[in-house]
Amino acid sequence: MKAVLDHIGIAVGDIAAALAFYRDALGLEIELPEEVPSQRVRAHFVRVGEPRLELLEATAADSPIAKYLDRRGPGLHHITLRVDDLGAALAQLKARGARLIDQEPRPGAEGALVAFVHPSSAHGVLVELKQPRKASVPATGATRYQLGDLELISVSDGHVRLDGGAMFGIVPKALWEKQTPSDARNRIELAMRPLVVRGARTMLIDAGVGDKDDAKFHDIYGIDRSPALDRTLADAGLSPDDIDIVLATHLHFDHAGRFTVRDGSGRLRPRFPRAQYIVRRGEWEDATHPHARNRGSYIMDNYVPLADAGVLQLVDDDATIMPGVRVKRTGGHTMHHQMVTIESGGKTAAFVADILPTTAHLPDAWIMGFDLYPMDTLAAKQAFIKQAIEQQILVFFEHDPKVVAGYIRERNGKRIIEST
Ligand SMILES: [Zn+2]
Ligand SMILES: [Zn+2]
Repeated sequence: MKAVLDHIGIAVGDIAAALAFYRDALGLEIELPEEVPSQRVRAHFVRVGEPRLELLEATAADSPIAKYLDRRGPGLHHITLRVDDLGAALAQLKARGARLIDQEPRPGAEGALVAFVHPSSAHGVLVELKQPRKASVPATGATRYQLGDLELISVSDGHVRLDGGAMFGIVPKALWEKQTPSDARNRIELAMRPLVVRGARTMLIDAGVGDKDDAKFHDIYGIDRSPALDRTLADAGLSPDDIDIVLATHLHFDHAGRFTVRDGSGRLRPRFPRAQYIVRRGEWEDATHPHARNRGSYIMDNYVPLADAGVLQLVDDDATIMPGVRVKRTGGHTMHHQMVTIESGGKTAAFVADILPTTAHLPDAWIMGFDLYPMDTLAAKQAFIKQAIEQQILVFFEHDPKVVAGYIRERNGKRIIEST
């Protein structure tokens, strides 16, 4: 384990007096305070070089900091060491008999995961271990896999932020937040990772959110298109002209946004000029006739221009789209949501889209609140996971901020994901 000093926490009884000293008398720069509701504390970080000072102000009488102040008065409260893998660090400490206050990582300030080690094990000092929030997608955003004769290239259209509660349905925040820290607006970060399949022809499955939306939309959904789809396609050696087929799992805006662009004259046109766009007929009908419950997810400018341009092909049933590539209706997320299976050389991969948007959604009950037919999601997901384990299917997680693809395995009754 490698640990570096991140900051030193100081419990403060009178924040105005403390700022008068650290900010005014010492002339240090104070960052904007951040509230950590679970600890009922407000943290004011003070810049003093790479490691920082953290002035901790209680926001409620039952806050751990308030109790500390009652007992010991203001003063040095904890030191924080930064580690790469907090789970591994805790396992190592446990194995060596250290007394832990937190047996498992929990959310701390700045979207990090943290856990405290008891002072009795750290020679009188309260030690906080911290795994910072990671900027997740690999720098180039294009990851290649060989599957028999087919080449699969995971590309990226950046990140979107969606409400954490809506992403995990009935699962309480106390549980999902351990897996996926949320920001001050309760949103979690999700990747948008379309997949390129290169074989007889070059196919793009889904296309991210695109760039047609206004600033308000970008703010609400925390959209960060770095790296954007054009960039990551270029990293993979592809231009929009190279795409022969664009296949939609469904038409939600985080999957179909880049299907179209606005040209210099403001006209909407297909982004991939040579491509035929393939959409399931039922999904097309739903997306062009939205109702109160799904209207927020569908933006007509993303797909209606495809019909106008004559590049749209609607398919009615499960079908082979190009050699080795089949679509299969899952339903659940939307009535006609479909997944894609890719087979070559005796190997299988699957692009499951919003049936298993992230690896956190592997347990049965972790189903998105967005889903229109959650019991159908459950059935589709159970059947798929069983098959994925038995047949060693390489599964792509379109929205997972960290894991591009992996193999689902079962260990001690728990579903996990492994890279080989
Ligand atoms: Zn969706
Ligand atoms: Zn989605």
